[in-house]
Amino acid sequence: MAVTVVGSIAFDAVKTPSGERERMLGGAATHFALAASFFDTVHVVGPVGDDFTDADMAILATRGTDVSDVERVAGGRSFFWKGEYGWDLNDRETLDTQLNVFEHFEPKLSDASKAADVLFLANIQPELQLDVRRQCEAARFVAMDSMNLWIDIARDALVRVIEAVDCVILNDAELRQLTGKPNVLTAAREVIAWGPSVVVAKQGGYGAALITAGDVFNIPAFPMETVVDPTGAGDTFAGGFVGFVARHVDSGLTRDVLRNAMAYGTALASHNVEEFGTERVERLQPGEIHARVADLADMTRFDAPALDLRSASGQPA
Ligand code: AMP
Repeated sequence: MAVTVVGSIAFDAVKTPSGERERMLGGAATHFALAASFFDTVHVVGPVGDDFTDADMAILATRGTDVSDVERVAGGRSFFWKGEYGWDLNDRETLDTQLNVFEHFEPKLSDASKAADVLFLANIQPELQLDVRRQCEAARFVAMDSMNLWIDIARDALVRVIEAVDCVILNDAELRQLTGKPNVLTAAREVIAWGPSVVVAKQGGYGAALITAGDVFNIPAFPMETVVDPTGAGDTFAGGFVGFVARHVDSGLTRDVLRNAMAYGTALASHNVEEFGTERVERLQPGEIHARVADLADMTRFDAPALDLRSASGQPA
């Protein structure tokens, strides 16, 4: 099933302990589309400026992604984000965010984008996410992401978006900030009470947790010796997760579908961090994804031996 995505299409300046890039293609919708395009057609919605080249557009269009709803704003500049990571790659500092062409963007979706069965509201201002949600009435599965900036400055609008989706994908610190609950599980249960049936709590280099009314499932991050640049890992995870669900939307959100979606998201995210920005996922091959999904399936299964444990009395319980 085709997937429509709205979210930032950006240039990023990034510094990590492995090196730096002054201006590379990035953005939440970009990273999402590069991952979700392994599964089906992706329609990208969002504005770019004069500074967005044909070569940038060609990368966005990798694996047949439809870029006809990417609007070039004459005289405008593309979204720009600057961030820096220390030795703890789970901890990054945002140094600059320039919305630029996103500030006054009014999305007009093509019929193909409106008709998609699956919609992903990638990270961008919540009012814009809500606008696109309303235009995609036919969507059968709607997922979303956000970040601390929008919880800080647009919380009410963000809650309205959450009430209108099936699945929320946030990192665990954002879930705690959003709900005021100190525990990820209780924070996820609070979000489920607002409307969505699925919550994914991303935990950076530690993995991710899936919470539904009937299931809690933790998956580790794929073990990596070298992480060059974590930027976009969350969006790449979302592209793998939502892309897999889009393939299986007819069979419903079963436990197996959601758990496999977690594995595909994890495998794709692990490739994203191997190089800066979109560099690695642009040329990734399906066999490389399958190999990591198979390893993850092995890692999360084990045979539990029957074992007598001693009770307080010292006797086997
Ligand atoms: P991630 O590392 O998955 O959280 O996403 C990083 C991407 O999000 C970068 O490529 C940025 O361009 C983009 N980004 C950063 N801040 C924002 C924001 N406030 N709104 C939308 N996108 C953003």
